[in-house]
Amino acid sequence: MALRVQKYGGTSVADIEHINHVADRVQKAHDKGDKLVVVLSAMSGVTDSLISLAKQASKRPDKRELDALLATGEQTTAALLAMILKSRGYKAKSFLGFQAGIHTDKTSGKARILDINGQNIQSALNEGNIAVVAGFQGADEDGTITTLGRGGSDTSAVAIASSLKADVCEIFTDVDGVYTTDPRICSSARKINKISYEEMLEMAILGAKVLQIRSVEFAKKYNVPIHVRSAFSEEEGTMVVNESSDMESVIVSGITCDMNEARITLKKVPDQPGVSAKIFTPLAEAEICVDMIIQNTRSGGETDLTFTVPKDDFERAKEISHKVAKNLGAVEILTAEEIAKVSVIGLGMKSHSGVAATMFQALASENINIRLISTSEIRISCIILAKYAELAVRTLHTAFGLDPEK
Ligand code: ASP
Ligand code: MG
Repeated sequence: MALRVQKYGGTSVADIEHINHVADRVQKAHDKGDKLVVVLSAMSGVTDSLISLAKQASKRPDKRELDALLATGEQTTAALLAMILKSRGYKAKSFLGFQAGIHTDKTSGKARILDINGQNIQSALNEGNIAVVAGFQGADEDGTITTLGRGGSDTSAVAIASSLKADVCEIFTDVDGVYTTDPRICSSARKINKISYEEMLEMAILGAKVLQIRSVEFAKKYNVPIHVRSAFSEEEGTMVVNESSDMESVIVSGITCDMNEARITLKKVPDQPGVSAKIFTPLAEAEICVDMIIQNTRSGGETDLTFTVPKDDFERAKEISHKVAKNLGAVEILTAEEIAKVSVIGLGMKSHSGVAATMFQALASENINIRLISTSEIRISCIILAKYAELAVRTLHTAFGLDPEK
């Protein structure tokens, strides 16, 4: 008998008909003898419409009350599923975040789970219940309801799986797994059978939206095996697990493309100690997350400094940079918004050479100019012009042997 945590996303619980389908799946697993904890998202679109209601109520909705409001989306689906299961003659019990013992810090809207007291769920399971838990929420030490950030039900599920030492955390979603790249861009994208936490984390950070980043961090820290799979088919999806030696033979496992960054270059800034601090401190104070930073080699006591920021912060970052540039006596500032960051990700990079060369050659073969390069142990990213993004992804997919064998 296995203990399984199953999480169903918003499209899988979009209406009563869909929740009935979820009940079918849950019922089937239960009939096989498995113990089940089911974590649910709100019906798709509900969190967005609650946010828009809040904005109608107040220009700047109070954060505590906003969390109290948003948590109702998941309360609805959890209660409905438990109701359906009970009407079919099953023992089931719904739990809100606080009833499931999910204890978070006080950061409204993006709270972190501190610990989970799994007692209530455990005793419900011991009594033969299917436990249905409202995802995306918890409570702080004062009992105030908190939410875990958009997509947070993934993290609820992984955290519960970890606290109950579940055999697997199944994330049921509207895609059938994690793909080598975005299938909408590249028709030869393939489902990956098994991927490491580390690679998944890089992919999630770079915009592969299947899993909330925090859920992957959590799973990695506590070694929770995740199975990302379709809520609409029986097919096996992608296992996200600890790295194993066989994984290193795959040099590149995925390619991502992020169009959400913009570039700023400060030309001819004095090459002196403390200059970078003067540029990046005001950006940090404005809570702008700088991604890539590249400083050119010195020439004549001056250097060029280039960095990228999220597009949403571009205008503010530009304003700040103009001020800083003026104070530093930098000669000019150049900006570019129409850029894309294409990245190749793979554990095998740790032990294989030549990955960067292959990437650059592939891009060169299509005459795509690389503007910036950055790397981590298992990732190489290049900034290119946005209009070449799709071509770059397809070219790299082929160059790294990810296309299906013919
Ligand atoms: N309902 C929340 C959202 O839309 C949380 C989730 O679905 O995971 O972001
Ligand atoms: Mg999601």
